[in-house]
Amino acid sequence: MADCNETLRELHTFLDDELSEAARHSIEGHLGGCLDCLQAYDFHAELKLVIREKCRNDELPAGLVARIERCLDDDLDGDGRIG
Ligand SMILES: [Zn+2]
Repeated sequence: MADCNETLRELHTFLDDELSEAARHSIEGHLGGCLDCLQAYDFHAELKLVIREKCRNDELPAGLVARIERCLDDDLDGDGRIG
């Protein structure tokens, strides 16, 4: 089973689901018996969730996209027009 150092070192890889099955079991086993590491895991898992949530909400507003498109259209109809 992993010890605290190893668990904390592998925490992000664990959260990203990029560990081998054996390593994951080892970390899971340690988290099951170590409150300190479990709290660290909870904190980072929560953080990851918040960041993911925030990124999804930070998409460009539709009105802004429309404004940018209008600006580009104005440019095409302006001085740069050919013919
Ligand atoms: Zn621990």
